[in-house]
Amino acid sequence: MSLAEQLHRLQQLDLELQRKQQELNEVEDQLSDNKALMAAELSLASQKDQLEHERKRQRDAEWELEDLQEKVRHIESKLYSGTTKNPKELVNLEIELRGYKGQIRSREDTLLALMSQVEEMEATARTTAEELERLKQEWQQRQETLGHRKGKVETVLAELRESRDALARQIDPEGIKIYEQIRSTRTQAVAKIERGECQGCHIALPTSQWQRARAGDLIQCGSCNRILYSE
Ligand SMILES: [Zn+2]
Repeated sequence: MSLAEQLHRLQQLDLELQRKQQELNEVEDQLSDNKALMAAELSLASQKDQLEHERKRQRDAEWELEDLQEKVRHIESKLYSGTTKNPKELVNLEIELRGYKGQIRSREDTLLALMSQVEEMEATARTTAEELERLKQEWQQRQETLGHRKGKVETVLAELRESRDALARQIDPEGIKIYEQIRSTRTQAVAKIERGECQGCHIALPTSQWQRARAGDLIQCGSCNRILYSE
């Protein structure tokens, strides 16, 4: 294998390593992405808070209503027991009774509205909880699939690194140095020659150059500086 051919092979391994590393990064990003799950958890927590608040309002309204009903019973017993004889006092009691009954009707309306509100909120919270459960299962499943994929990619990466290092050890260090220098600024340091052209920059090469490259000399393109490789 000529030096250019070795470097071309090295480049293939480096590009494959780059692709696999990229794949690993993507898998790791997906593994740590639990935004949908977090959003559903936050949403459920806030719905439960609101529900608790509304339930408290409902209980308060129920107690208020009981208080008013107790007051009405008290006045009615005064009115109908015959213990109160004073007509003016009786009229006042009746006025008071009407007032309390009016308040009771209004509180009953409020309570009914609160009860239907609570019911609605309970239904919404149940739906969110179901959605959260579904997301959790999905996430768990994705963790398993991705974890499996991550393991596979890591194995391939380790194998590629080993092959790369083994190959690099066989290559003339001077050649590696030139290769690394070009690769620090370009994705591909080695370019093929096709139809007398450098495939890195598509400039036609002097015949003598590609002939020397074909013979196995380490030749760099005069235009893009890449190492020329001829099959
Ligand atoms: Zn070139």
